[in-house]
Amino acid sequence: MAPIPGSGLAKGLAVTLRTMTRKSVTAQYPDTQPELPPRSRGVIGLFEENCTVCMLCARECPDWCIYIDSHKETVPPAAPGGRERSRNVLDRFAIDFSLCMYCGICIEVCPFDALFWSPEFEYAETDIRDLTHERDKLREWMWTVPAPPALDAGAEEPKEVAAARKTADKLAAAQAAEPGQAAGTQRAGEPGQPDGPGQPGTPRQPGTPGQEGRA
Ligand code: SF4
Ligand code: SF4
Repeated sequence: MAPIPGSGLAKGLAVTLRTMTRKSVTAQYPDTQPELPPRSRGVIGLFEENCTVCMLCARECPDWCIYIDSHKETVPPAAPGGRERSRNVLDRFAIDFSLCMYCGICIEVCPFDALFWSPEFEYAETDIRDLTHERDKLREWMWTVPAPPALDAGAEEPKEVAAARKTADKLAAAQAAEPGQAAGTQRAGEPGQPDGPGQPGTPRQPGTPGQEGRA
């Protein structure tokens, strides 16, 4: 059947009328900031306290655009007679975002949770050489990393949270048992008094598990 003359025009006008009445999806950037999804790949943030300079991210980066410099430092033994240890100290951590292809491999392979995606995207430069960003800038971007979403109902508890909770439970149980033990020590005989109460006082450091839970 031959098309009715002018039907194409009518269809086009119908589409125009339909879209004219819909709410616009464009935003007046930069006056209006876009609402980005929390997992947007804007830029990479470095949480340098977690970085052990293992070099895994730099080795796995397909573009070789992560630059890390470090030196070794000797740590004195924790106890007299112990051995000295050496540890890596980070001197430079930079990413060349003119080469980065936002594959996320560095973030995936980091065994110490030191790299994160931030939705920050306003770091355009007029000179391509300025797209190599150093550790201070990468550290600043850490503050723009959104908090992880809440777990689904019935989801398995993360390992670090479970470990922190177990430690806190153990401490609470030890503290709850403390008065009974102290009484027992007193009853067992006065000569034992100097050793008994001295030691239970030491493990009162409930701050540590809380910090682990946050990480
Ligand atoms: S996102 Fe990919 S390309 Fe960019 S620094 Fe990480 S590993 Fe390299
Ligand atoms: S993989 Fe992680 S811990 Fe290792 S050097 Fe890279 S950022 Fe640091």
